[in-house]
Amino acid sequence: MGLLREERTIKLPLSREFTAKDSEYDAIVIGAGMSGMAAAIRLAMFDKKVLLLEKHVISGGLNSYYGRGKRQLDVGLHALTNFAARGERRKPLTKLLKQLRIPYDELELYGQFESQVSFPGINLRFSNDIELLKSEISTHFPSQIDGFNKLLAKIESFNEVALDNETIMAKDVVSEFIQDQKLLEMIFCPLLIYGSAWENDMDFSQFVIMFKSIFLEGFGRPRGGVRKIIDLLLKKMEESGVECRYRNGVEEILIEGGRAVGVKTTRGEVLKAKTILSCAGYPETLALTNEKTSLNPAVGKMSFTETLFSLQKRPKELGLNQTIIFHNERDHYQYQCPQTLIDPKSAVLCFPNNFAEDDYQEGIYRVTMMANYDKWKSAKSDKDQYKSEKDKVLNEAKRVLSHYMPRFSQEDIIFSDVFSPTTVERYTGHFGGCVYGSTDKSRDGSTPFKGLYLCGTDQGFLGIIGSMLSGISMANLHGLMGQ
Ligand SMILES: Cc1cc2nc3c(=O)[nH]c(=O)nc-3n(C[C@H](O)[C@H](O)[C@H](O)COP(=O)(O)OP(=O)(O)OC[C@H]3O[C@@H](n4cnc5c(N)ncnc54)[C@H](O)[C@@H]3O)c2cc1C
Repeated sequence: MGLLREERTIKLPLSREFTAKDSEYDAIVIGAGMSGMAAAIRLAMFDKKVLLLEKHVISGGLNSYYGRGKRQLDVGLHALTNFAARGERRKPLTKLLKQLRIPYDELELYGQFESQVSFPGINLRFSNDIELLKSEISTHFPSQIDGFNKLLAKIESFNEVALDNETIMAKDVVSEFIQDQKLLEMIFCPLLIYGSAWENDMDFSQFVIMFKSIFLEGFGRPRGGVRKIIDLLLKKMEESGVECRYRNGVEEILIEGGRAVGVKTTRGEVLKAKTILSCAGYPETLALTNEKTSLNPAVGKMSFTETLFSLQKRPKELGLNQTIIFHNERDHYQYQCPQTLIDPKSAVLCFPNNFAEDDYQEGIYRVTMMANYDKWKSAKSDKDQYKSEKDKVLNEAKRVLSHYMPRFSQEDIIFSDVFSPTTVERYTGHFGGCVYGSTDKSRDGSTPFKGLYLCGTDQGFLGIIGSMLSGISMANLHGLMGQ
């Protein structure tokens, strides 16, 4: 550390203005998450010399994959939100592909069949056509349909991506239009669990982002799942000349006179750059600076377990056609870090065979449950206890699946696996195994340090499409439009 400080002082006297020619790189991107890769591509397309540093051995971050025997399993992708059909204009997906110069057809995207929110005694179905959700609300909540249509009009006219939107809690706004508490909670359920860093509520801009991406645009899946998206981004990185180094974590972000000037890697290399973009997370990125600031972004509390099953039988053979089920056993919806290892009373069930095309060799069943990182961290210290807790999660997942598929049978299971918040932490570096980042977002990506910017989840846009859009917009704002 002493040597490093000396080296920095010699190479970059504080009094001197920092110029691009001091840099080995125009930009260093920390993390090969979706946003980091998109940012790197965007910068390199405009002839910036870009280095992407990833501490893991593969790309994707929270949206990656792993191998078990001959199987490669998706970690992040349940469904690509923001579905857009070929030729649809002015949709986030279309804009994103245009900015990264990826032809739509290369994504080989196909839409969901139908999904549903299930509360005790009531199911609300929705698809990529908002008319289904409207008709479900008319049927089950006839007194609320006018309010829902007014809410839709407000959502459609709201600019959710304006960087200067003030923070307003979404339930306050939505309850002006929807008076029935159960309907309100059913609407919030998918939006919270697919993207809220806040417990039980969310910022209205984030609500609108999620509402449009899930209810107005909808779900899709690229042929090949997560790897299709990652492979397309890797191809673009190579074509545009991004230098990408794996097993090269950033150990320290070097700060001189309040400005980020480079990084030190876990391999001990010191690399300089004019701009540093990080998708590692807000608290995680600030911790890498080793500098004290008055800012102390919170570590988000929302983490999850994910249980995966392969079965000989596909969901349709067991009588289930839905793509995703947002399952809740309480009268109200409790979106919060549970007091116990998991909250077994709600879950997201994902059936990736049930998109318009099924490219799997087997039936795949995925069950996501809210989980308490601290409890998992302490269970992890005892190998046997950790295994036994994972077995309990597996059993809960089977129980919930059997609720929708009484013929779901132990004998048909050919493979199963569970990952926990500690797995998320280990492979992505997110403090607390946190999936939706800090509750303190930096909407313009700025940090207390000049030249150091955030992209991805803690800039405020998450999910696969959201984080890529974040990477592009932060690259445009901080890497291409000057400092
Ligand atoms: C179980 C699960 C299911 C999900 N399902 C969906 C879904 O169906 N649809 C959807 O749209 N989204 C889904 N998501 C969310 C989506 O995956 C994320 O919102 C998105 O991938 C976040 O991307 P990001 O760019 O913000 O960064 P991250 O994915 O958080 O990537 C951060 C990267 O930075 C790297 N890194 C961290 N620290 C360092 C360091 N010091 N040096 C170098 N590298 C570092 C990490 O290794 C990682 O690769 C899911 C996530 C999970 C976990």
